[in-house]
Amino acid sequence: MSIEKFSVEKVLSVHRWTHNLFSFTMTRPAHFKFTAGQFARIGLMVEGELVLRAYSVVSSPFDETLEFFSIVVPDGAFTSNLQHLSVGDELYLEKISYGYLTLARYQQPLPQDLWLLATGTGLAPFLSMLQDFETWTKYQHINLVYSVRTASELAYVERIQEIAEMFGEGHSGFKFIPIITRDPNAALHDRLPILIANGELEKSVSLALDPETSHVMLCGNPQMVEDTKEALKQRGLTMNRRGEGNIAVENYW
Ligand code: NAP
Repeated sequence: MSIEKFSVEKVLSVHRWTHNLFSFTMTRPAHFKFTAGQFARIGLMVEGELVLRAYSVVSSPFDETLEFFSIVVPDGAFTSNLQHLSVGDELYLEKISYGYLTLARYQQPLPQDLWLLATGTGLAPFLSMLQDFETWTKYQHINLVYSVRTASELAYVERIQEIAEMFGEGHSGFKFIPIITRDPNAALHDRLPILIANGELEKSVSLALDPETSHVMLCGNPQMVEDTKEALKQRGLTMNRRGEGNIAVENYW
């Protein structure tokens, strides 16, 4: 990978959520353009070699800085180095952005109900979309569903409320639905495909997953994406291809 494809950026802040979850912000060069939902490729110099990893952007396309949300992968060459990141450190940013998990891909059905289903750090692209005023004007209902193993892994909860207030400006159709799969006392604690099959997810928001009105985006654990896709297909929803259909996905690793 030629180094000319990258710009060198500086880390501006690091926030640690748990021992293995953290977010960081970095400088954004003027040439770096992206659409909400897309990902960037970030590089770290490890023992003289550029090691790369893809990260969905958390920040909005209108922000002056770039924010990312990361898990520390045990023995992962990239994240085990990245977890020691400090303000002022240098990171390489590939000059172009990637990915098709964007709202612009939907043509039919027309926008009405938006379901954003994430596990873990798969929340990132949805935070970017929610910081775009257009998302809020396009949809009557927006359900942000965020599945984690334990309550301590529920990052960004306060930010989600702030984003809803700032960008939604009193939008009455927004619901945030946390799922805590390893806490039997949590209001919702089953995995997404089960909650879809037994109707509990729809009941929790009083809205049906309807092929005529739903845009459903999935991001996170690849097995979750696979299993949830199947559960949605059982309900008559279809994959979005060439603009038509309900389901759009991004595998996260
Ligand atoms: P995770 O195992 O992905 O779990 C997050 C949430 O997804 C939990 O609520 C979990 O439920 C649920 N889930 C898992 N499999 C599912 C399925 N088939 N259907 C529906 N829901 C499902 O946890 P994580 O902490 O985000 O990631 C776990 C590990 O994955 C990390 O420790 C890391 O090693 C690896 N990972 C790697 C990368 C990478 O880039 N290489 C990125 C992220 C994560 P349960 O509690 O029922 O499992």
